[in-house]
Amino acid sequence: MSDFDVAVVGAGISGMSFAHYARKAGMKVLVLEKSNIPGGSFHSAAAADGFWLELGAHTCYNSYGNLIGIIEDCGMMDDIISRAKVPFKLLVGNKVKSFMSRINFFELLISMPKAFTKKRSGETVESYYGGILGKKNFRRVFSALFGAVPSQNADEFPADALFKKRPRRKDVLKSFTLKNGLQSIIKGIADEEGLETKNTAKIHDILFKDEKYILQTDDGEIITPRLAMCTSVAEVPKLVKGFAPDLARKIAGIQYKKVESFGVVISGDASPLKPFAGLVPLDEPFFSVVSRDTVPDEKYRGFTFHFRPDTLEKSGKINKACEVLKIEEGQIVSTLEKVNIVPALRPGHYDLIEEIDKQLEGQKLFISGNYFDGLAIEDCVSRSKSEAKRMVEME
Ligand SMILES: Cc1cc2nc3c(=O)[nH]c(=O)nc-3n(C[C@H](O)[C@H](O)[C@H](O)COP(=O)(O)OP(=O)(O)OC[C@H]3O[C@@H](n4cnc5c(N)ncnc54)[C@H](O)[C@@H]3O)c2cc1C
Repeated sequence: MSDFDVAVVGAGISGMSFAHYARKAGMKVLVLEKSNIPGGSFHSAAAADGFWLELGAHTCYNSYGNLIGIIEDCGMMDDIISRAKVPFKLLVGNKVKSFMSRINFFELLISMPKAFTKKRSGETVESYYGGILGKKNFRRVFSALFGAVPSQNADEFPADALFKKRPRRKDVLKSFTLKNGLQSIIKGIADEEGLETKNTAKIHDILFKDEKYILQTDDGEIITPRLAMCTSVAEVPKLVKGFAPDLARKIAGIQYKKVESFGVVISGDASPLKPFAGLVPLDEPFFSVVSRDTVPDEKYRGFTFHFRPDTLEKSGKINKACEVLKIEEGQIVSTLEKVNIVPALRPGHYDLIEEIDKQLEGQKLFISGNYFDGLAIEDCVSRSKSEAKRMVEME
């Protein structure tokens, strides 16, 4: 493809869903991705003998209507598979325990009625959930549980940013993944006709001249009449500050955290731990361990530890994984590493987004990502859908 109507920077689910909607509207799309594989936090890493392990997102729900629509458009509905019903558990010291074992039911009973009157809007995760579950319960169990969702302490997140009520597609499994992992959705979109994805195409700088955006890469300039910025929140301010300094300042006001995701693959019989979906520790250098036991394999088991950044070297991570999984280092078949960037949303976030959207009005610059509506996959896809609609309506 020699010409295109819109360039998309970043091939995570935000960029690829934007590309999909632009394609659906009849536009030619060029997606530019700095990594050698597209997907961003959709990373179903190949480990051994066809065994894959999610190093980022792992679960979709039948409330993800826009995402399911894309899977349908890509002809991939038959790839949807259920997740085995294995539990999420707490890790206390080195013992696996149920969440219930840490909950004070008396406090829960006297706090729960507040759920009928307390509004989530304007509250933080701590003030809202501490109110309806009990402050002590929140500190003993739920703070860690909520922190496992964005892989960071989530106490100060706006309460309405983490879990949202959305209509459910009753014809789709309640929670699901795809038979080759979630990254296959990205591959499905990338295969669409009229959409070109260039990997190892890092954008270093962007200029705006004669109503065109000029993207600078190692291989020269790419000139585009429309630009969709779909990188993580960490990169956007640096890339837009040259031509939109006010916008860059506002986006730079959104905090973010790094997560060091560390995958460990072992043979199916190596660990004595019973199958589980995830472990949430109370006091460890990681926020959660997400398991592949949800899609059982005949030969292997896989676990992704989402570590706090800059706390352990690789050898420390291996030791920690061995301690938790109760295995010897020699039993590890392979390890996998990925750094994910996750926004740290704070009260007042949605007012800031309103200001950002005002600045974007009338510009042929479109921005999507997990720092607008929320972090969930469906939040990213909904944002991309509304930005693609704004683009189409400008023509
Ligand atoms: C560990 C983890 C587990 C999660 N689990 C779930 C889950 O189970 N369910 C759920 O609903 N949500 C989950 N989420 C949230 C959700 O997966 C993410 O919010 C979402 O995938 C983010 O997608 P994105 O496209 O906005 O950003 P990213 O996935 O970060 O993609 C941004 C892309 O931009 C590229 N890029 C950056 N800079 C440049 C540049 N200069 N030039 C070119 N390209 C560039 C990056 O390489 C990357 O590919 C999880 C998130 C994490 C981190």
